[in-house]
Amino acid sequence: MKLLLVEDSAELRTSLARALEGAGYLVDQAENGEDAAHLGGTGDYAAVVLDLGLPLVDGLTVLAGWRAHGIATPVLILTARDSWREKVQGLRQGADDYLTKPFRTEELLARIEALIRRSKGHSATMIALGDMELDLSQRRLTRQGAEIALTAHEFRTLACLALNKGRVVARAELNEHLYDDQAERDSNVVEVTIARLRRKIGARMIVTKRGHGYIIPEGERGDG
Ligand code: CA
Repeated sequence: MKLLLVEDSAELRTSLARALEGAGYLVDQAENGEDAAHLGGTGDYAAVVLDLGLPLVDGLTVLAGWRAHGIATPVLILTARDSWREKVQGLRQGADDYLTKPFRTEELLARIEALIRRSKGHSATMIALGDMELDLSQRRLTRQGAEIALTAHEFRTLACLALNKGRVVARAELNEHLYDDQAERDSNVVEVTIARLRRKIGARMIVTKRGHGYIIPEGERGDG
């Protein structure tokens, strides 16, 4: 899953990006409000971490602009210590959550996970897939308690399909979630990853919609 990280402090941005990537996310970074507005307005992000004090265009204005254009991506704002006005304004402009600086990276990670789950309509970290369970926070897939080992690509792909259960996910969208790099996107990695997943979780779990993408149908059961 891809996140947009907007923070003008290079030091904080670098350390947060490293932590988020360590947790398995792909991270696009912006260091000012103008770049943030552009990326958030065009990119396909699972969530945005938005600092409010930014050069060129402030974070509240960026957020208001996205919401005015109907962009519903969940947004977590980073606010200065003791600034209750920023929090109130941020929430009123459409922020979904906030963190006050300084904060622990673990708390940011937990809040982002929760935001993404809520935005996809899942309030628990576990998603049932037939007789298997996908644990988004532990990044594990199990069948009756036994772990089914997945590579990072396989996990990301399965998590994206599972969070969108019942909806066709375009091949291009899956590619977005797998890679930052356009050159890599041109490869057939999605097909390869889906084929490997099917061998591990059962061929019928992931259905191909030719010309559209892939879907895990609601109520689908794996066949082994
Ligand atoms: Ca700042």
